[in-house]
Amino acid sequence: MSRVNKSGRTAAAGKKRQARRTGARGGSVTKTKSSGRAKAKLVPAKEREVQFRVRELNAQQKCGAGTSVERLFRVDETVDGAAKAHLVFLDRRHGWYCEHGVECPAVRQARRIGEPNRHHNGRTHNGGMRA
Ligand SMILES: [Zn+2]
Repeated sequence: MSRVNKSGRTAAAGKKRQARRTGARGGSVTKTKSSGRAKAKLVPAKEREVQFRVRELNAQQKCGAGTSVERLFRVDETVDGAAKAHLVFLDRRHGWYCEHGVECPAVRQARRIGEPNRHHNGRTHNGGMRA
C-alpha cells in the first residue's frame, strides 16, 4: 500500500510544479510600474514656499527677427529662498514651452500672464473680441 501511494503522488506533483513555474512567470511584471510613476510625479503635494515672478521679454530681440517665437517670458522661481530662472516661450508652431521642457511648472505661470483671457471666466466675449 504505502509504496504505491508515495511513488504515484510525488511523481505527479513534481511534474505539475515544474510546468507552472516555467509557464506562468513570464515578463508581465515590469509594465505597470513606469506608467503609474509618471503621472504621480506631476502632482507633488509639497508644502514648500514657491513663488513665481514673471516678466515679459522681447522675443525678437532674444531669438532673432525670423523667429517663430511670438512671446518670451522670464520666470523667476523661488523655492525656499533658492532662486531658479526659466525662459518660457510662446512659439507659433509649438505653443508654450520652457527651456526645461513643456511640463516645467514655469510654463503655467507664464501662460497666466500671457493669455489671461483663457483662464478667466467666459465673460470676455462682450468686449474682448479685439485682437
Ligand atoms: Zn523651466
